[in-house]
This record gives sequence, structure tokens and C-alpha cells, in this order.
Amino acid sequence: MKVTKADFIISAVRPNQFPEDGLPEIALCGRSNVGKSSLINRMINRKNLARTSSTPGKTQQLNYYLINDDIYFVDFPGYGYAKVSKTQRAAWGQMMENYLLEREPLKLVMQMIDMRHPPTKDDIMMYDWLKHHGLPVCVVTTKMDKIPRSRRAKHAKVIKEDLGLRPGDPFIQFSSEEGIGREELWAVIAGYAGL
Ligand code: GDP
Repeated sequence: MKVTKADFIISAVRPNQFPEDGLPEIALCGRSNVGKSSLINRMINRKNLARTSSTPGKTQQLNYYLINDDIYFVDFPGYGYAKVSKTQRAAWGQMMENYLLEREPLKLVMQMIDMRHPPTKDDIMMYDWLKHHGLPVCVVTTKMDKIPRSRRAKHAKVIKEDLGLRPGDPFIQFSSEEGIGREELWAVIAGYAGL
């Protein structure tokens, strides 16, 4: 995918702030610090459009990025960060849930998992919830460059097994550092978004 244009559109805190143009939306979710901002920046070949956040868990909004005037990336707040209050966590859960269940232009959820470790309980809960509700999910494992080549297949296998990856769900191994997986991921996104 040749990205010629990428713009930050809005940090939406209420549904009436979501764009109304009906363009396809791809949601990105994962634990805080999983590498979401870095992946967005790599996908659009920009250094800093998605802020690499120094305070994990602080983003409480859905951040919309418009790419090539064709498609939105919708960046979710990172989950699984211990220092947020239960009330706050419940509020985020509600916002995410409403979006995921009701947003018509949503075409695909990219669930990101740190490839260095087995999926956490939160990762597994999230994936199960998405599948329970029939949402199309692409699992993206991040920070692949941090794992020696000889161990990558093993890590991928553990993640697939622990998640119970459903047949047909794409699974992409990614490195923002080295750009591995970028073209493959764009191809998956383009397919789901009908680009
Ligand atoms: P976010 O909280 O999910 O948005 O995570 P960030 O994109 O801010 O990344 C968290 C940390 O992981 C930062 O220090 C990044 O530089 C690092 N990181 C993210 N992706 C990669 C990757 O593919 N390779 C390596 N080596 N580091 C990464």
C-alpha cells in the first residue's frame, strides 16, 4: 500500500464526534505498551503522527487517523494497565463495547499481542469477547525483531494455541522497528475494507 496522506482527525470521547462520511474503519486494540502507536506510524511511514505515549493507559479516547482519504485507523485505549481505577476501566469498557457492537463502518479489529510473551488473561478475554460477538479479527504480534529468528515459530505457535485462534482469522507477525509484516498487514486490511 502506498500511503500518500495521513492525518490525525480527532480524539473522540463521544459517539457524536465520530466521522459521518461512512469510510471503512479499522480498530486497533491491545495492552498498553504493546506497540500500537509504533505500528500506526510504521503503517503510514511517519515517525510521530501517532504519539508514542509515555504514560500508558492515559488515553481515554478513540483516536481517529485518516489514511489516503480512504480509510480510518481507530486507535483504542490500551487495556490491562493496573494503575487505572475500576470505575475508569468500566467507563472505557463501555465506550469500547458500544463502538465495537454498534459502529457500522467498522470492518476489522486488529488485536495486537506482544510477541515476546504468551497472551495475557486480558488478551485472551478480549479475543474471546470479539469472537463471541462475531467481529472480524486480525491478530498482530508486535516486536518480532526482539525475538531471535530461531524462536519465532515457537512464540507464534504458543500465541495461537493460548488464544485459541479461530480458523480463518489472519495472524500477522510484525516489527515496527524493521517494517516486517507491513505489506502483509496492508493486504489484509485492504481486503476487509474493500479497498
Ligand atoms: P503503545 O502504548 O501500544 O502505543 O506502544 P508504543 O508504540 O508506544 O511502544 C511501546 C514501546 O515499545 C516503545 O518503547 C517502542 O519503541 C517499543 N516498540 C514498539 N514496537 C516495537 C517493535 O516492533 N520493535 C521494537 N524493538 N520495539 C518496539
